[in-house]
Amino acid sequence: MVGMPYRKLLVAGLAAVILGTAAVASTSWWAAAPVAPVVSAPAVAPPPPVAAPPPEHRVEAVALKRGDTLVRALARKGVEKRVGQRIADALVESGADLRRMNPRHGLAITWNLAGEPLEIAYTPSPWLGYAVIATGNDWEVRRAETRPDVRVEAIAGEATRSLFQAIDDAGESPQLVVEMAEIFSSDFDFTADTRSGDRFRLLVEKRYAEDEFVDYGRLLVAQYLTATRVLTGVGFEQADRWRYYDPDGRSLKKSFLKSPLEFTRITSGFTYARPHPILGGTRPHLAIDYAAPVGTPVRAVADGVVTRAGWAGGNGISVILRHRSGYETMYNHLSKLAAGMRRGGRVAQRQVIGYVGSTGLSTGPHLDYRVSKHGRFVNPLHEKFLPGEPIPAADRAAFLAHARDLVRRLETQAAF
Ligand SMILES: [Zn+2]
Repeated sequence: MVGMPYRKLLVAGLAAVILGTAAVASTSWWAAAPVAPVVSAPAVAPPPPVAAPPPEHRVEAVALKRGDTLVRALARKGVEKRVGQRIADALVESGADLRRMNPRHGLAITWNLAGEPLEIAYTPSPWLGYAVIATGNDWEVRRAETRPDVRVEAIAGEATRSLFQAIDDAGESPQLVVEMAEIFSSDFDFTADTRSGDRFRLLVEKRYAEDEFVDYGRLLVAQYLTATRVLTGVGFEQADRWRYYDPDGRSLKKSFLKSPLEFTRITSGFTYARPHPILGGTRPHLAIDYAAPVGTPVRAVADGVVTRAGWAGGNGISVILRHRSGYETMYNHLSKLAAGMRRGGRVAQRQVIGYVGSTGLSTGPHLDYRVSKHGRFVNPLHEKFLPGEPIPAADRAAFLAHARDLVRRLETQAAF
């Protein structure tokens, strides 16, 4: 039947049907043609599948944990500590800084069939990688560094629902919101002060590898516009550190942060008369209440000395810090203290001193935060803290020119 045009076949078939048996008889011409029996060739068993030879090597990724050492991480996968130590030594000799290992770094072991480590690949950044290769009884290190293609890009947005939403709409990472909040953290409380309609713009270094975006470099300049003011932060290399200043050269790193928590919600403000949720009646509430989940880290708003750390009646677990210029800050209802927090200890600005809780007279997890000056409570949101250090005189001219140039580029590339 193969080869007979479909149409002819159709006709022959149809003829058979019409002629009925006669046709059947007549189609016997068809039947007359002896149909060669399909003699299927004896089934030749397909050759058994050839098992692919086991791969010479097996590559195993090693997930690094916070505080890990290379030796410990390799040992988790079965590399003897003695061998791991030799690998670590070889890496350090080649300039690797193993003290800064963290979960974002890449680590992988190549094993041979005998289960011996043949090669360790360590990548502390998208731009730098090390291969430690077994050479007989020793280890040879190869270092590979690629130079990122750094492009300065302007990013702008408007806070309608949230800043994070705005940066997401711009196709960028929330990391930029956190960095911007940090730059302005002494002047602006992104928890209390952000309003719908606020706008921001910034120039940031974006690092590419062959046209593929990898990560952000430095945030060069940022502006945040509210209904009443414009905040400008200009980055400048000063004393080998990247610091932020306002356009007049005053440091934005002031002695006090505006808030001990980031991106939370204020549930109760500073007032001399508030209905007390537990004790009833109307009482002063000389504090700001920030609602946050239990366990949220609470940071010191300024450098200082611990004058109280522990249980304090209705304030629950509480910390008091003494700062310069007669200021004290108080953090109440904590779930627990940070490690090492004790009376007389010193803390640095931004250091975590405890965690949000609901201990003491509290109706739910929140931080009751208070500031006093010379023993009198003041409103933390309205207090004008000490201005930041001015840029050193020697750097002033260079900084002002740098700032003018960056702000002009920002205004040109991301008009408000
Ligand atoms: Zn409170």
